[in-house]
Amino acid sequence: MPEQLEQSPVDRLVARRLGLGAAMDRGELEQAQLAALRSTLGHAMAHSPFYRERLRGYDPACLTGADALQELPFLSAADIPEQGHRLLSVSQSRVARVVTLQTSGSTGSPKRFFFSIADLASTSDFFLHGMHSLLKGDERVLVLLPFLQPASVGELLIAALQQGGIKAAGMWPPLPGTAMSRQLREQQIRCVVGLPQQLLAVSTLAPPGQLRSMLLCSDYAAPALRRRIEANCGGTTFLHYGTTESGLGGGVECRAHRGCHLRESDLLVEIVDPLSGKALADGQPGEVVLTTLGREAMVLIRYRTGDTACLERSRCVCGGITARLRAIRGRMAGCRLPCGDLLYSQEVDDLLFRIPGLLDYRLRLDHEQRDRLHLDYLALAEARQLKEPLRAALISLPAIRDSLGCGKLVLGQFQQVDSFAAIHTLKRTIIDQRSKGDRDAICS
Ligand SMILES: [Zn+2]
Repeated sequence: MPEQLEQSPVDRLVARRLGLGAAMDRGELEQAQLAALRSTLGHAMAHSPFYRERLRGYDPACLTGADALQELPFLSAADIPEQGHRLLSVSQSRVARVVTLQTSGSTGSPKRFFFSIADLASTSDFFLHGMHSLLKGDERVLVLLPFLQPASVGELLIAALQQGGIKAAGMWPPLPGTAMSRQLREQQIRCVVGLPQQLLAVSTLAPPGQLRSMLLCSDYAAPALRRRIEANCGGTTFLHYGTTESGLGGGVECRAHRGCHLRESDLLVEIVDPLSGKALADGQPGEVVLTTLGREAMVLIRYRTGDTACLERSRCVCGGITARLRAIRGRMAGCRLPCGDLLYSQEVDDLLFRIPGLLDYRLRLDHEQRDRLHLDYLALAEARQLKEPLRAALISLPAIRDSLGCGKLVLGQFQQVDSFAAIHTLKRTIIDQRSKGDRDAICS
């Protein structure tokens, strides 16, 4: 018998947190979001010096329709380090966790995000519910994320699962080949959570049929990479969308895999044209803009994430009505090549992860007389001859082909490596070392 498609568990979470019944409809959900938004605005204007000044004279009671949100100004990534503690809406003694993100390059000031105990509890609530999209019965979960620091993403997830009666363990950094294989077997792991590239390696290490599901998080997951994980282990991959700004958790795919169901009790998501800032229709790709609902310590109102995705608010195949984020491409910063074209790490991922045997890579640009493009890559032991297919794939990309053609770019070293340092940050597949003042800028 075919598996019956279960409604996304995120819907249950959202209904409960917004005080709605399980049979909520889209209109009720959006009205409850507006009420939560009015309350959040009132809280921010009363307690944050930044919002008190920026929204001076604004009456949250005016927010009676979804369009009213568009009258509010955007919050940019640059506002975060500039405003610092002025964005806080609680006293510092009530801050339970600070996440510091280094901005691209070595010169930018770090961005700091503050969370209260209640903020972290809402994330844990989402983590536990979201994981029910993947899990069945008493399956054991392995979390390949940093988990030793209190309230780190891995620790929050493991604690939430354990509180929900699910057996979960953490591992960071991930063990290499044979040792990982032994752990998977001995602990009878059925589900693994981690970065897409690391899960690709893990998918080659488990006994056939053992891994039933994988949650891909914290980075762009190329469709080809997902297909290879599923082909390797016979399990199903699920995407999670979440950033520090979204409170670490944001949305997760249901069993229909038609986009990540968003925790709309805690987040209001818009998609806007990145140039004009105008709201885009559902299904149109644009920039993800986040507004936090009910967040205590640091409220974000219309925060421009820089991520690209589409929003869908129609009912999902699973029956769920929470909005879904689809075609998630992450930050589309791009790396400018010498003949003017931008190279995006997502398009490199889309192409390179189609190559059988490739497990991970780092693309690096430096400059010696001309710009040079180097590739370090990790491959399965049995994949011997990847240099040529990798070279052919890279020069098929228009941005690279054109810059090679105009003579201002050359291909440098292509070398197979044994491992990469385990770094749980945003994507590090294109490293730009061309400028002396900015040795390790990350392009995208
Ligand atoms: Zn669904």
